[in-house]
Amino acid sequence: MFLEPHFKGQRSGWIEVICGSMFSGKTEELIRRLKRAKIANQKVEIFKPKIDTRYDVQKVVSHDENFILAVPIDNSLKLLEMVDGIGVVGIDEAQFFDSDLPDVCQQLALQGKRVIVAGLDMDFKGRPFGPMPNLLSVAEYITKVHAICQHCGNLATHSYRLASEGSTVMLGEKNSYEARCRTCYTMGNILKLQTEP
Ligand code: ZN
Repeated sequence: MFLEPHFKGQRSGWIEVICGSMFSGKTEELIRRLKRAKIANQKVEIFKPKIDTRYDVQKVVSHDENFILAVPIDNSLKLLEMVDGIGVVGIDEAQFFDSDLPDVCQQLALQGKRVIVAGLDMDFKGRPFGPMPNLLSVAEYITKVHAICQHCGNLATHSYRLASEGSTVMLGEKNSYEARCRTCYTMGNILKLQTEP
C-alpha cells in the first residue's frame, strides 16, 4: 500500500502515478488517497477529461460506485488556471488527456502541490497510452495496480477487448473488455486473428 512521504522543513510538491489495466482498482486507489487527504483538511480537487462521460459527467465513479465530484476539462493547460489554493490535485483517466499533461503536472508539483494521477498504462493493443509513459518518467512515486485475469486467475496487466472493431477511445465497460494476464491476452489476440475473415 502506498504511504505518503514525510518531509522535514519546506514541503515541496510531487507527482504520484497510479497505473494499471482495466478493473485493477486505479480509481478506487485514487479516491482512497484523496479521501484521506480531505479528512486531514487538505484542499482536494479532482479533474478528468471531458471525453470520459460514462456514468456521470460530474463524478469520478469507480466500478464499485465509490465516487467523488470531479471537474471535467477539455485540455490539460486549463488545470493551471483551476488549482488556486488547492493542495492535492487528483487527475483520473489521464490516458485520455493531451500530451501537455506531464508538463502541467510538473508545474503543479513545483508550485508545492501533491499531484495524484490515475490512468491506463496500456491501450487494448498493449501500447503505452497517451501521456502515461511520459508521466511515469517524471513521477516521484509510481504504483502499478493489477487486476485478476478472468481466464486463469493470475495477475492481469492487460486490457483485452472482446470486440475487434472500433477506435482506441472506446470507453471501457465490463462487457466490452476483460482483464487478462500477458499469456491469456496474447492467446486471445492470436485466436481473434485466426477467426476473423
Ligand atoms: Zn491469464
